[in-house]
Amino acid sequence: MKKVLVFGTGVSGIGAVKLLEKLGCRIAIYDESGKVISDIEHENRSGQSYEQVLFGIDTVVVSPSVPMNHRLVEYAKLCGIEVIGEVELAYRSSRNEIVAITGTNGKTTVTMLTHAMLREAGRDSYALGNIGRSYAGAVSAIDGGAVIVLELSSFQLESISEFRAKYAVCLNITPDHYERHRSFDEYADAKRKIFLNQTDCDYAILNYDDPVVRGFESVISSQVYYFSLEQRVKGCYVYGDTVYFCEDKPEEIIKVKDIRITGVHNLANTLAAVTVAKLMGLPNKYIVKALKTFTSPRYRMEYMGMYDGKRYYNDSKATNIDSTVKACRSMTGDTALIVGGYDKGISYDRFFDLLPSCVKHVIATGDNVYSIKDALPKNAHCSFEIAAGLYEAVERAESKTVDNVLFSPSTSSFDRYRDFVERGEAFDCIVKAVCGKH
Ligand code: ADP
Repeated sequence: MKKVLVFGTGVSGIGAVKLLEKLGCRIAIYDESGKVISDIEHENRSGQSYEQVLFGIDTVVVSPSVPMNHRLVEYAKLCGIEVIGEVELAYRSSRNEIVAITGTNGKTTVTMLTHAMLREAGRDSYALGNIGRSYAGAVSAIDGGAVIVLELSSFQLESISEFRAKYAVCLNITPDHYERHRSFDEYADAKRKIFLNQTDCDYAILNYDDPVVRGFESVISSQVYYFSLEQRVKGCYVYGDTVYFCEDKPEEIIKVKDIRITGVHNLANTLAAVTVAKLMGLPNKYIVKALKTFTSPRYRMEYMGMYDGKRYYNDSKATNIDSTVKACRSMTGDTALIVGGYDKGISYDRFFDLLPSCVKHVIATGDNVYSIKDALPKNAHCSFEIAAGLYEAVERAESKTVDNVLFSPSTSSFDRYRDFVERGEAFDCIVKAVCGKH
């Protein structure tokens, strides 16, 4: 019987354990976080030497949080032990048609929207992966006829080998995750792995407007379709006020005004999901119904309501510069932007140039405020100030004469919060407290 070491005991690790149990493997677990692992009844090798941790192990399953250049991973490989990720493990037990979605931003939105279209059309569909539901944990209970829509991060793609998606989507690639990837090229290479193992029976769906993503075309073996906000492409595009899908001849899908999710970036997300749905043969009426009803998942440019005559938006999920810039570009009217958070080493050099002129005030708070401040050009079109915390930032935003207050941090939350959800909840509460005083 195979002995497998599960490295990392978060959502993916626990999912891997669940699947390995079903497969009848002997399991050992290892976690470096010092976390108490009480709900897994398997041999715990945390805290032992690498030799002891790997003794008698045939395969190591790594969680996405573990980099492939981790010393234990490298040591395992040197010892000839197979190292795979949780996605690869799950894939080897999966008989399902797979739609895989990656990109720097928009993964969750496109995953949920594609899943909604499939469900609307009566297809048995599961949304798994980076959205927070482990692929490995769910796969054994899923019928072979179901479709699995998988959100995949670069961390998850790093550790695949045989994984193959029938439909693989890359939404965009902009700088992020330098805490893990040494360079932009290395990050883009990890994303590109989503097309690995595809053949000419499969489909690659690429963002034509993103030069890095469009460039993948030259190394892809599957059938390439595009989506574009700017060009009439083979795939899905916007022309005038209408979304079209074009294979041989253009076919009208929906008027832009009828799509429920808003913002230019969400229009791009819509095009990506429609391309997949059309290639899967879903009838237009179900695609349209999903587009008319689907709302963004929480804390993605979420409209909170009107307080003291200003519209408040909670975009706590914006964890990189591009997502914040896109949120700002979706605002109509003068805007006070609250940014900042965990210092993940990203450069803000171009940040202020990329902000649209509707952003009149930038209020920074969090560990990386000085990286933002240092990038402020002398002739900036907006005011800039630093707040001691989120409460003070909201108070400052509230005092401005603007139409919108947008909380879009442009970085992770770990300086003050467990994750973007906790940060989003904090912002909700603070806005109600500050605005409730008036
Ligand atoms: P991901 O799962 O890739 O993090 P989400 O759908 O959760 O993507 O959205 C994360 C953040 O990125 C949100 O702030 C959202 O408004 C923004 N966003 C969504 N789609 C895009 C896109 N296509 N381009 C840029 N930003 C986007």
